[in-house]
Amino acid sequence: MLLIDGKYKPVAQMLFSSGSCPRCVLRFCCVDSTAPYRLPYKDLVCELQNYLEMNHEDIADLVGGPPCKRAKLEETAKCTGDRESINSPEPEHGDDSQSPRTCNLCLGVLQHLCEVESVKKIFEKVKNAGYEFKDFVFSVSLPAQLSVREHSAWLQAKQEMGKHGYCLEKAAIIQLKEAYKWIIHPLISEEFGVQALSKSVFEVAVVFAHPETDSDCHFLASACKDCFKQTKNKQSVFTRMAVLKALDKIKEEDFRVLFPYPLQCPETVCQLVDIQCSHSSVFVAGIYNKYSRTLPQTPWVIDGERKMESSVEELITDHLMAVFKAESFNFSSSGREDVDVRTLGKGRPFAIELVNPHRVEVSLQHMKELQQKINNSDKIKVRDLQIVNREAVGHMKEGEEEKTKCYSALIWTEKAVREEDLKLLDSMEELKIDQKTPLRVLHRRPLALRPRIIHTMKTEYMDEHHFRLYLKTQAGTYIKEFVHGDFGRTKPNIGSILQTTADILELDVESVDIDWPPALDD
Ligand code: ZN
Repeated sequence: MLLIDGKYKPVAQMLFSSGSCPRCVLRFCCVDSTAPYRLPYKDLVCELQNYLEMNHEDIADLVGGPPCKRAKLEETAKCTGDRESINSPEPEHGDDSQSPRTCNLCLGVLQHLCEVESVKKIFEKVKNAGYEFKDFVFSVSLPAQLSVREHSAWLQAKQEMGKHGYCLEKAAIIQLKEAYKWIIHPLISEEFGVQALSKSVFEVAVVFAHPETDSDCHFLASACKDCFKQTKNKQSVFTRMAVLKALDKIKEEDFRVLFPYPLQCPETVCQLVDIQCSHSSVFVAGIYNKYSRTLPQTPWVIDGERKMESSVEELITDHLMAVFKAESFNFSSSGREDVDVRTLGKGRPFAIELVNPHRVEVSLQHMKELQQKINNSDKIKVRDLQIVNREAVGHMKEGEEEKTKCYSALIWTEKAVREEDLKLLDSMEELKIDQKTPLRVLHRRPLALRPRIIHTMKTEYMDEHHFRLYLKTQAGTYIKEFVHGDFGRTKPNIGSILQTTADILELDVESVDIDWPPALDD
């Protein structure tokens, strides 16, 4: 059953006789049931011919001649209904003489490219890419000129319908992409052994091209100049979006003149030029401690030259990348410490986005083993290593300013200090300070004056020139500058409070106040 509403019959006849394939005929007859599209191609041709010939006298009237009668039903695959086409030589598809003429609307997409051979080709490529997936979304990129041809056929079909008092909305026509998916989804799902869904974390994208008809779009560039702007990264100005915009703008009468109907059937079939696979990112979070004073958080490179051998980021991600087989990664953390600062205590939360991972099913046990491997390094330790979702990573960055952080610093003073001098620091609470962007980060951060709060301080006297200072501060406070004053750019500072010159010899982060990611059982 073709399920074509009787009112569309003139359109069916018009398209079929001008070289459009039966599936495109169904589309323009607004058949929105998947079954007819999935009929074997030959059966579909037969059915459509029968349907049209049943009332061939009416049709003869409408198209100005008898419909295709010379084609016998057993030869129907060869016949597209155009009287002339039967005698015209068959285009080369490398197949056999049974190949139908290439459709002037879908350029063969609904004829040759939804056959099992195409599906097998796609499957091979996806299989070789080596991804782990439970289902997938199948996306299709079609050449832009298909929209031009479709527009032309729609104007003609609309006129045809109008003669009989009907209208034809462009939106009611079934999109080529849609019809293609209706046909190919069951085939491809069967071949893959998993379902093609409308949404999935794994995407298989196929790209079609048809060089023979690329120039179909060209007249639009002069007709709608402002729709086609040359951009640096796009190879062609005739993007699908630009073409659709131009089609929306151009006047019907202008279009009809510049791109007259009927449409030529091309010699060649649309080609599958690319098959791309991609998996949405996987996020791994954890908490790290850093025990080295010669290890930067991220690779330290100045003018293309590496300054330190490794980094926290690399010590963690090298292992993750090997397991998840990702294409790239993005490392983020709740704040960061300088290369010479250790992160002790509860440690610092971090999250890593693994972009386009090939492997995603990693068990809790495996994550534990992975953590163990990372922890073989004596420079860092991680805990609570786990897979989290994208939203959870957002929590890590939220309200960073309000968080508190605890530090321990070894301080040197120029002037000799007594234990009781330090009591002044112990007694201070919620000390407000103003920090100008430190000189040492001014090359990468904008100059700003930021108020910060030192919640509490606790001192531990060592000798007359040294003491240990434990601080609890608002996140984002520059501790080194709070100690030495950064040439008066941080006010007040430890030096100014103690009325001496002070410097910081060692700094450790004791804790970062954030309960994320959740603790895991050992
Ligand atoms: Zn077609």
